[in-house]
Amino acid sequence: MSTIEHEIIIVGAGFSGIGAAIALREAGFEDFLLVDDADGVGGTWHWNTYPGVAVDIPSFSYQFSFDQRTEWSRVYAPGRELKAYAESCVDKYGLRPHIRFATTVVAADFDSDADRWVLRTAEGAELTARFVLSATGVLTRPKLPDIPGIETFAGTTVHTARWDHDLELRGKRVAVIGTGASAVQVIPEIAPQVEHLTVFQRTPIWCLPRPDLPLPAPARLALRLPGGRTLTRLISQTYVEVTFPLAAHYHRSLPTAAIGERTGLAHLRRQVKDPAVRAKLTPNYALGCKRPSFSNDYLATYNRANVTLETAPITEVTATGVRTSDTEHPADVLILATGFKVMESGNMPTYDLHGVDGLDLEKWWDENRLQAYEGVSVPGFPNYFSIMGPTATTAPRTSRSSRTRPATSCAACAGPATPAPPGWRSGARPTTGSSAKCSPGATARCSGRTAAPTRTATTSTSTAMCRCARRPRWKPPGAAAISTCPTTCSPPPPASWRTVRRRRRPRPRRYHAREYGYS
Ligand SMILES: Cc1cc2nc3c(=O)[nH]c(=O)nc-3n(C[C@H](O)[C@H](O)[C@H](O)COP(=O)(O)OP(=O)(O)OC[C@H]3O[C@@H](n4cnc5c(N)ncnc54)[C@H](O)[C@@H]3O)c2cc1C
Repeated sequence: MSTIEHEIIIVGAGFSGIGAAIALREAGFEDFLLVDDADGVGGTWHWNTYPGVAVDIPSFSYQFSFDQRTEWSRVYAPGRELKAYAESCVDKYGLRPHIRFATTVVAADFDSDADRWVLRTAEGAELTARFVLSATGVLTRPKLPDIPGIETFAGTTVHTARWDHDLELRGKRVAVIGTGASAVQVIPEIAPQVEHLTVFQRTPIWCLPRPDLPLPAPARLALRLPGGRTLTRLISQTYVEVTFPLAAHYHRSLPTAAIGERTGLAHLRRQVKDPAVRAKLTPNYALGCKRPSFSNDYLATYNRANVTLETAPITEVTATGVRTSDTEHPADVLILATGFKVMESGNMPTYDLHGVDGLDLEKWWDENRLQAYEGVSVPGFPNYFSIMGPTATTAPRTSRSSRTRPATSCAACAGPATPAPPGWRSGARPTTGSSAKCSPGATARCSGRTAAPTRTATTSTSTAMCRCARRPRWKPPGAAAISTCPTTCSPPPPASWRTVRRRRRPRPRRYHAREYGYS
């Protein structure tokens, strides 16, 4: 018999999954299950525990808008505080009984006969639900570099996203591959401990100063005064908007990117003494083509006598170290700061997904390019909604509720299986890359696996995201709370429902069906 065990299954218990679950409970839904392959909540902050891990936007912005904490120890809180915040949200909003850990979803198939989703897990279980909210994140699956001989390394190899806390670095020769956001945080932390550190850099990162300060007790107390949280949030959010999305989105009209580049170059001059090393650390692409980083001690680490910056391409990893064209760099420990699979096949989502008539999402995306209605739903995958899908990632986590709102509201409002209307597409203007000065290579990297026009993280402002999420609000008779409802991915509400607190008519949506061959 075709049973449906749960109304809704949320895959992923990071902040997206937690936010979605909170929103569902607020909308009166209790029959949902949150599954995660980890043994704890927090997603990114559960998995990433390397030395120095911290947020790289101010904590006042990196938190739920509806649950603003005043206990951050610094403006840029360390990862363990984010993990603790996730745990506290789970307890505060009563989500713990809804969570099942150590459950890795490997496939989700839509059963058209029963209008249900069937999820298979690596542990051999089968879960069924009317709706699936995919909150599997984008920086989830560590990416290993494709370097010849890497498996022959006889020392210890560790990826930053799976740090081994038994690893002793004191007195060791350490090689770090990669100079992205995680490397910027880990390198200054470990450099004073190790005997020698060799950093292998392919592309220098734009590194900007970080307005970070400890928040002593009086400052935390001040946050609790009336208006304290709102004011800090406002200041923090303005900073985030100006440094990330506005700089990228309006680089032609606003001088923010140019100011950022000048600031980055001045920071580099102040921090690095040796002109040759400084030249190696100078980016040759515009700020915004690649996610910049923020650190007050990363660049200065290259002044240390025990740190070498190697920019020659790696030719192979041997049993005893890392070889470039002309030099062998001996190493006892190899740290892979090589990031994550992002737009690659197997990561969005992290499991096989088959919709109506066995339609394969990966294949559909390969053939039709990465796209989703408001980043949330795709035709042929009824009652399946992804958070942080293509075209939906707001770079700063300004309003976490704005990020989860479209998906949760779809699930909260939709009735039985409701395929998205054929031929729709968001009216958002597609854009490639984020800066006029991006090299073609950087632009292709920015714009996703098919290098097709895609609205990338850095080109969507959180304000725009909030605007998209603002829709007529519907309330079923007797429902505990109000939910928002994007009208195009769910049926019109039943006649007996009443409209409540309608704020503004949605602007007419533009369709581009013919342009993208959907008809
Ligand atoms: C080191 C680091 C620092 C960061 N710093 C910032 C920052 O300062 N500011 C910012 O805006 N963003 C930052 N990010 C991006 C960060 O990923 C997001 O801000 C946010 O945490 C994403 O939340 P999420 O819930 O969508 O995904 P995640 O936090 O990645 O959670 C997804 C969860 O789903 C689980 N999962 C995935 N697939 C499956 C499956 N098939 N079955 C079961 N479970 C599954 C994963 O194990 C994970 O627990 C950072 C990322 C990293 C890695």
